[in-house]
Amino acid sequence: MNSEIDYNHIKKLLNFIDSSPSPWHACSKIAEGLEHAGYHQLFENETWNLEKDHGYYVIRDDSSIIAFKVGNKPLHQAGFRCIGAHVDSPTLRIKPNPVEEKSGINRLGVETYGGAILATFTDRDLSLAGRIVHKDNNNWLGCSSKLINLEDPLLRIPNLAIHMNREVNEKGLKLDKQAELPLILGNISDSLPGEDKFKQMLSEKSGIDNDDIISWELSVYDTQKAALYGAESEFFASRQIDNLASCHAAVSALLASHQSVAATNVCAFFDHEEVGSNSIKGADGSFISDILHRIAITLGCNDEQYKIALAQSFMISADMSHAYHPNFPQFYDDNHKILVNHGPAIKINANQRYTSTAVTEAFFIRLCEAVDVPYQKYVHRTNLPCGSTIGPMVAAQLGIKSVDIGNPMWSMHSIRESAGVLDHNYLTSVLDNYFAGN
Ligand code: ZN
Repeated sequence: MNSEIDYNHIKKLLNFIDSSPSPWHACSKIAEGLEHAGYHQLFENETWNLEKDHGYYVIRDDSSIIAFKVGNKPLHQAGFRCIGAHVDSPTLRIKPNPVEEKSGINRLGVETYGGAILATFTDRDLSLAGRIVHKDNNNWLGCSSKLINLEDPLLRIPNLAIHMNREVNEKGLKLDKQAELPLILGNISDSLPGEDKFKQMLSEKSGIDNDDIISWELSVYDTQKAALYGAESEFFASRQIDNLASCHAAVSALLASHQSVAATNVCAFFDHEEVGSNSIKGADGSFISDILHRIAITLGCNDEQYKIALAQSFMISADMSHAYHPNFPQFYDDNHKILVNHGPAIKINANQRYTSTAVTEAFFIRLCEAVDVPYQKYVHRTNLPCGSTIGPMVAAQLGIKSVDIGNPMWSMHSIRESAGVLDHNYLTSVLDNYFAGN
C-alpha cells in the first residue's frame, strides 16, 4: 500500500461492488445507503409531498433508481443538477427452462446480456444472482419479487484443453453462444430431475416455497471478490466496474452534500444500458422525464416554470472510459490517450455518441480545477466505431445541457475489469463539488 493514497473511498467501492452482483442488488444497496442517510422512498402510484432540503428516492421495477435532494431555491430559479449512470453490466442470463441434461451432466442454458467478452467467463468460479418472482395474493399483480444471491461458486464454463484447440493462442477463444456457453451445474442424479433440482436450489436459498416460485431473472457473476493490485496497490480489479464505480462516486457525492444548496440534486441510475436502454426503466424510456416532471409539479411549478427549470439544468453522464493499454498502442489516438490514475476523462465525439460540447466540456473543466483534480480528454480513433452512453438519449429527451465523462479503465466488459484507485477519489471529489453548487 502507498501511504500517500487515501484508500477509504475505494474500500467502500469494492464492498459496494461485492454486494451488488446484479442490477437488482445494486439498486437495493444504493437504496439501503440512501435510507441510512435519511432519504425517504417515494412510490410512483402514490401521492408525493416534498420539502426543501429533504432527500427522496424512487425505484422503478426493482432495478432503476432516481434519488434527489430538493434544493432551497424554487426549481425555475435553480434547476436540476443531475448525474446519470447505469447499474447493469454485460453478463449471461439464465433461460426460463434452463436445465440441459446431457451425457451425465446438467448444464444451465444462457442468453448473452449486452456485449460481454465471453472468453473471460471461462474457468471462473461463477454463481447466480437476481430476482425471483413468487405468488402473492396481496399484490394487484398476484405476485411479488425477491432478491436472491446463490453466493457459492456453483457454476463453471471449463475451457477446452489446448490439445483440442491448438490454435487458441493464435486465433483467440471463440465460443458458440448457443452450444458452448451453457454452464456446468452438476452430475445428473437418478433421484431428482435437473429442472427440479435447480428450482429446489432457488427455493432453499430464497426461503420461498417451491410451488410459489413462478419466474426469475438471474445473472451469472464471478464470485471472486474485488481486490487492489499493483506495485503500490494503485489499481483495483473486479467485476462490474463499468458502471458501478460511477454510480458509487455519484451517490457518495449526493450523500456528502449535507449543506443546503440552491439546485435540486439528482442521481439517476438506469438498468438496461447495455442492451440499448429502450425499456420501461431504461434511460431511453419515460423514467427520468416522469420523475423530474413529477418533482416540478409537486413543488408547485407550472409547465412554463418546469421548462425554465430544465433550461438551467445540467447533467453529468458518468460512464467508464477506455484507458490507454500499453500492450495495444495501435488502438488509441496518440493525442487523446487517457491514463489510469490521471483523472477523469471528458469524452468527446463529433457524431454525438457523447453529449459533450465545447461549453459543457468547459463547465466540467472548471469543476475539476476548483478542486485541483486533473482531467483528460478522450476521443476514440477516427477509424474505429465509437461506443455511447445514456447521455445522448437523456439529454435529447429532456433538452438539458450535458457532458459525458468517465474514469479510465482496462478490460471493459470483461468479467474481471480494472481501474485506478486515485481516479475514483478524483471523480468523487469533482462530483462533491458539483453537488455543492460550486
Ligand atoms: Zn458503461
